[in-house]
Amino acid sequence: MADTPNPPWEPTAWLREAVSERIRLMTQAVPRAALDDDMAILMQLTEASEDATREERDRWEYTCDRCGQYCPPDGVWGFATGHVELVVSGIKILVTMGLCRVCRQAEQVPMSKGG
Ligand SMILES: [Zn+2]
Repeated sequence: MADTPNPPWEPTAWLREAVSERIRLMTQAVPRAALDDDMAILMQLTEASEDATREERDRWEYTCDRCGQYCPPDGVWGFATGHVELVVSGIKILVTMGLCRVCRQAEQVPMSKGG
């Protein structure tokens, strides 16, 4: 199974590890045979805990997935969301994440929403 992330740039060790872990969890939950070849899967790099309160969820929504910095939506931290597109075992996977300005520059992840 070719699980090596293959975005069009060199991901850092952190991003490789984080994405690999998410894919490992996904493939544990969903067997490859259950997936169609032409489907794409959208997954988040991190998730709020299942028992998170509304407030905790809102906070998670604006917390950098890489460094854990809470970045309130006032734009000061340059928080933005983006994704990495991978092909794992023939399945296209979009891994979405939210990163602060510093981490975004470190990862060079294409971001869709500036903040
Ligand atoms: Zn960060």
